[in-house]
Amino acid sequence: MKEVKIEKCPFCGGEEFIETIVSSYGSVYLHPVPKGGFRSAALFVTVCRDCGSVVRAYCKTPEKLYSKKERRDS
Ligand SMILES: [Zn+2]
Repeated sequence: MKEVKIEKCPFCGGEEFIETIVSSYGSVYLHPVPKGGFRSAALFVTVCRDCGSVVRAYCKTPEKLYSKKERRDS
């Protein structure tokens, strides 16, 4: 997975961020549900410490949703 670096909050210009994980409810599921059942990955959000805006929401394990092999085929 490519690494994304956030330098500045696009909303307030703040430079301090908090990494948080959205648990239980916040998982992302692949839709429509593929053969073999549900696949989910935990959702992480980066929050600006100055204004509280969610600067980024992402999954650390996109491979859990789609393996690289599957992506190549489609
Ligand atoms: Zn901010």
